Amino acid sequence: MPNGLIPAKCRFFMKLLVIGSGGREHALVWKLAQSPHATQMWCAPGNAGIAQERLAKNASAVECVNISAEDLPKLLAFAQEKKVDFTVVGPDNPLALGIVDLFQKNGLKIWGVNQKAAQFESSKVFSQKFMEKYGIPTAAAGMFEDVAAAKKFCATLNGKCVVKADGLALGKGVLICTNQAEAERAVDEIMVSKAFGAAGSRVVIQEFLEGVEVSMHALCDGKTAKIFPTSQDHKRALDGDLGLNTGGMGTYSPTPFLSDAELAAAARSILDPFMRGCVAEGIDYRGLLYPGIMLTKNGPKVLEFNARFGDPETQVYLTRLENDLVELLSASAEGTLDKIELKWNPMASVCVVMASGGYPGSYPKGKVIAGLDAANALPHTKVFHAGTASKDGAIVTSGGRVLGVTALGKDLKSAQAAAYAAVEKIHFEGAHFRRDIAAKAFKG
Ligand code: AMP
Repeated sequence: MPNGLIPAKCRFFMKLLVIGSGGREHALVWKLAQSPHATQMWCAPGNAGIAQERLAKNASAVECVNISAEDLPKLLAFAQEKKVDFTVVGPDNPLALGIVDLFQKNGLKIWGVNQKAAQFESSKVFSQKFMEKYGIPTAAAGMFEDVAAAKKFCATLNGKCVVKADGLALGKGVLICTNQAEAERAVDEIMVSKAFGAAGSRVVIQEFLEGVEVSMHALCDGKTAKIFPTSQDHKRALDGDLGLNTGGMGTYSPTPFLSDAELAAAARSILDPFMRGCVAEGIDYRGLLYPGIMLTKNGPKVLEFNARFGDPETQVYLTRLENDLVELLSASAEGTLDKIELKWNPMASVCVVMASGGYPGSYPKGKVIAGLDAANALPHTKVFHAGTASKDGAIVTSGGRVLGVTALGKDLKSAQAAAYAAVEKIHFEGAHFRRDIAAKAFKG
């Protein structure tokens, strides 16, 4: 995936810091490292795969720094000490904590949404009110601080609803209900038992929407939003969308569910009012907008907003992206995205997540991973690390989701076959992965 020659006027050099440690951050580091603008790169805290990356410009190694993604004062001190030119933030927590505001106040250039814009992800009540005010298609919903009123609203939907804790709940504060008894239990769990802590003092209750769920991503610069092709995540742990919810067991891009014209129409109905609303509310939205979308028989509807790249969506997007990522994220931070056209490799991409046995429940750590080099040697294949560490010269598991095995193919079928061929080369005790990533694309 060459970046091409850079015109002289666009030549600039940067020391980069990437914040985060998962598969998303490995994909960001890998893609940023290909840029001829990148002269030195650190990742805090990073992982074993990130530490193996080299910069295309000078072959220098990406250095992992042992600072937590949420330790804002230490991250700031590190960026100042190393004279980092540009920081790229992967996960939602530092964004919600205000890392972008802090760095900017200290005169440092950083990519990601500021704290005000991060509310789209950190508060479901905020997002729901915004969508209703600016006419963004979403589920019919009510917002409540009172338990009795919440239950009464569920009854108007015959209990077929989705009860959502307002605040960040590690992706777990969303309960899907099929009848009134379940809905009342869900309200009690979130609002009375406080199963998700303070996140549950307010709830959003949405009508249950039926349809195909897809991920939409758009890069924004405060004025312009550039939409990506669609992708689809697989949230459940087991084949056939069974088992517990996870952080994502695999993705593919593009999906067959929206034509280019339909995607453009969805962008108009969602992104145009979104950007207008942000300007009207004084929200300077520079960063990634990732709405979760349900394709209903009445058109695409937004289920929720995320204010950062999806993981593992990042792996399939960045293996298809042909633009220079340093230039793209700089343009997003500087408000010059209108001058850039996104270019995508027409090949399809599939990412299969290999997880630790037991994930998303408890799982062992420290299992030696074999076969990484053999998998990476396959054509058009890249193994992104999510939860890995180095120990005594070996790469070992250190998280629930361990690897995002990603491959390109001339179409989805070949990308799927290539990703699973790479998975077959990799071994660690207890490894668990879904065998049906992208299979939905082939169902009539
Ligand atoms: P959220 O964090 O709001 O995206 O919700 C997590 C998951 O719950 C989504 O990925 C959907 O699968 C499901 N979900 C959320 N809202 C709805 C809804 N209104 N109707 C049907 N499913 C939903």
